[in-house]
Amino acid sequence: MGACTGLGVCKGLQTFEGNKPCPAVRTLAQVLLENVPLLTETYVEVNGAPLPRLQWKKDGTLNRHDAGLALDLILFANRAGEQQLASKIIEAFLECRTEMHWYSVIYMNFQYDRNGNRSPYTDSDLHMTHIHIDWMNYGLYKQTGKTSIPWPPEAYRIGFTDILTKRLNRHYSEW
Ligand SMILES: [Zn+2]
Repeated sequence: MGACTGLGVCKGLQTFEGNKPCPAVRTLAQVLLENVPLLTETYVEVNGAPLPRLQWKKDGTLNRHDAGLALDLILFANRAGEQQLASKIIEAFLECRTEMHWYSVIYMNFQYDRNGNRSPYTDSDLHMTHIHIDWMNYGLYKQTGKTSIPWPPEAYRIGFTDILTKRLNRHYSEW
């Protein structure tokens, strides 16, 4: 992850705030770590390496992850308990949508848009290993000529800690 190859330009780092996740992603990660014990643990990647279950960075290219606007929650869909937990967490994200103002949530073969509308996720890369959530505004990205991924105002929202904690605890105790 570090070194920039090719043209020597790590476009993913051309965000307005530098190389760190946006306040909304930082806040979300904190709430999840404090309320969902499984997400504080590591899992074993296909190459055998233990990795954290919360991941915001990708590969240093121009993408919503390295721009600091996205978080992946590693929860395997082929493990019943993890898939069940994932659906509870997604329920909590939907319930807190107006406080969190995320732009999209993807898991398995479905996705939710910023209005909470569910639709099939048809890209080849089905999300069978993780929930993806992000604050990327595609319109702002297009305005830059697709040269950088600006942070929309929603990426600065941090006031959802209490409500999300409440929702997660309700669901997590049910789980
Ligand atoms: Zn992702």
